Amino acid sequence: MWAELLPIGRHPDSGGYRRYAWTPADAECRVWFKEQAEGRGLAYEVDRNGNQWAWLGDPAEGDAVVTGSHLDSVPDGGAFDGPLGVVSAFAALDELRLRNATFDRPLGIVNFGDEEGARFGLACVGSRLASGQLTVEQAHRLTDGDGITLPKAMAAAGYDPDAIGADPERLARIGAFVELHVEQGRALDLSGDQVGIASSIWPHGRWRFDFRGEANHAGTTRLADRRDPMPTYAETVLAARREAELAGAVATFGKISVEPNGVNAIPSLVRGWLDSRAPGQEALDAVLDGITRSAREYADAHGIDLDVTRESFTPVVEFDHALRDELGRLLGRDTGLTVPVLGTGAGHDAGILSGAVPTAMLFVRNPTGVSHSPAESATEDDCVAGVRALADVLEGLTRR
Ligand SMILES: [Zn+2]
Repeated sequence: MWAELLPIGRHPDSGGYRRYAWTPADAECRVWFKEQAEGRGLAYEVDRNGNQWAWLGDPAEGDAVVTGSHLDSVPDGGAFDGPLGVVSAFAALDELRLRNATFDRPLGIVNFGDEEGARFGLACVGSRLASGQLTVEQAHRLTDGDGITLPKAMAAAGYDPDAIGADPERLARIGAFVELHVEQGRALDLSGDQVGIASSIWPHGRWRFDFRGEANHAGTTRLADRRDPMPTYAETVLAARREAELAGAVATFGKISVEPNGVNAIPSLVRGWLDSRAPGQEALDAVLDGITRSAREYADAHGIDLDVTRESFTPVVEFDHALRDELGRLLGRDTGLTVPVLGTGAGHDAGILSGAVPTAMLFVRNPTGVSHSPAESATEDDCVAGVRALADVLEGLTRR
């Protein structure tokens, strides 16, 4: 399975993946999923939002156990983020059939569409639509960098954009969702474990900082006469680093735009986007307060106008405690070992669904700790350990 997926959407220069929603590379991944489902005699369906499902047993019976992830990627993403969860789902089913496992609950495998949001700028579109966290009107307004709207892109890929929307009946059939994912950090590498269980997804927000000054000549304007927003922006970036360190959080200015953006012009506007995530809401509030306070001090002292706008926010996601404990029990059953439980700063479909369905996540060790890059990795041995862990979990959960 891995060998079949590896060439799809891989850019020859970067070695990274460009599997964006509703593009030909995405379509190839979808064909692959359908073939995997049908090759195993599973019932295949696509829901109204373009998410793909493969079923063993009749999902209409309800209380289904579902596993899976996504096949799309960020720009020049790695091979594992997403596909490892889908491949492991099919491999775990194969493993369970070798074990002659019996299933008292329907078992589903899912590929959620447009998880990374690389094309339209919003992550987890497939699961957000299904769970009603993204309205049809909002989805219809999403536009990619070439001015192509989501409805146009879906239609071009052969899907009906007028059919999208909340899908509560489909989600109500699911009793548990378990997503396996490559770890996007080095906690497992440092603890020496192959597999871990997720505790929570950190609260996460994006803020836009607009620093307004006055454009002027870079050669003739005395320093004392300038209202240059750039140094204030720079001080704010340093404050973000400091506050994040203090709170055990992360804070990143990864995108910036400058007006007029001339090499010999003092800027009139510096606009920076802050992404910050922290283990808890209090820590995230403290980071934001600290950064904003520093930014205002510098701005006031240098005649700069500052506006801070929150563009998006996702509160902390606590995965279902009972399901999490059940996973720990199932994984430790034979070895008696305790499986590490970790928080994560990354968003996932499992986090989006957690409001509607009991969800849990398994992480597989990533020795580089790097993610969203071709340097993302996992050893074959660890991937196999992940498949076994997922099979153990599915075997336990589907038994009544
Ligand atoms: Zn992912």
